[in-house]
Amino acid sequence: AKELGRNQYQFYKELPRRKDGEKNLALETGLRYALERGELEVYYQPKVEVDSGRCYAAEALLRWRRPGHGLVSPGQFIPLAEESGLIVEIGEWLLRTVCLQIAQWRDAGLDMAVAVNLSPHQFRQKNLLERIDAILEATGTDRSRLEFEITESTMMHDPQQAVDTVRRLKSRGLALSIDDFGTGYSSLSYLKLFPVDYLKIDRSFVQDIDAQQADPRIVRAIIALAHSLDIRVVAEGVETAGQFEFLKRHQCDLIQGYFFGPPMPADELMERARPGRPSLLAQRDRP
Ligand code: C2E
Ligand code: MG
Ligand code: MG
Ligand code: MG
Repeated sequence: AKELGRNQYQFYKELPRRKDGEKNLALETGLRYALERGELEVYYQPKVEVDSGRCYAAEALLRWRRPGHGLVSPGQFIPLAEESGLIVEIGEWLLRTVCLQIAQWRDAGLDMAVAVNLSPHQFRQKNLLERIDAILEATGTDRSRLEFEITESTMMHDPQQAVDTVRRLKSRGLALSIDDFGTGYSSLSYLKLFPVDYLKIDRSFVQDIDAQQADPRIVRAIIALAHSLDIRVVAEGVETAGQFEFLKRHQCDLIQGYFFGPPMPADELMERARPGRPSLLAQRDRP
């Protein structure tokens, strides 16, 4: 009985860790099959031009419709896909899906640019450009309709290599954003070397705008810095009218966030952004 008691104790003690490992393994196995079974979906979130209130572009965001788990958000599986290398295959599927969606919208009368996120693993791939080229060619995609988002910390991991990759992407006619800016300790001298089109202010700074002791100086400084380098500014995670008004007052160019709409299925974006519809700003005022 004593022996049994000790074993039970050990079993109990080790249970949490084992359970975690099992959970990850199940998730990874599930993710591996998710692609083949068609469980991955792409949602699109509007990027709205502050001046016109029009949907200027959309960001493609992955979703996993996992049986028995509902709609799983990328925070729960991208890190695992990144670790296992599965992100490469998933990323190529996503890019192909986005390219086909751009064409489908165009055929239906909606001319929409779409931004695709590149993970650190993808960004460091040796043959990244060749793989992108192959997909764009196979789908006959107009390069001016496609953008990529790369986080500031991904770029700063190896700035020399990043400058090179960013330049090669740009020379292919693709637009680029620095994502989650303000969280990744950019050296300003490098920022000047990245020929990017957009800088996305991280959500954490946008949230601060509404805080009791709001200090607008950082957001203002980021916008001024970007504009001085001819880079347009996108604010992410804009949820309130107060945040929107503040950003508008400080010459932010584009807004993304629940204020204008969450990530949504392609049909819904088409419905809201198709020609003839009021601007997204007007749709907010009079739904
Ligand atoms: P991100 O690129 O910074 O995307 C913005 C995230 O903020 C999205 O989360 C979006 O749903 C969320 N968001 C947008 N507006 C608001 C708002 O007003 N309030 C709040 N609280 N959140 C808002 P999501 O879709 O869960 O994606 C999380 C991250 O996962 C993305 O961050 C991106 O880094 C990554 N991710 C998503 N799709 C892909 C993909 O296809 N490939 C890669 N490599 N990464 C992806
Ligand atoms: Mg992004
Ligand atoms: Mg972001
Ligand atoms: Mg973010």
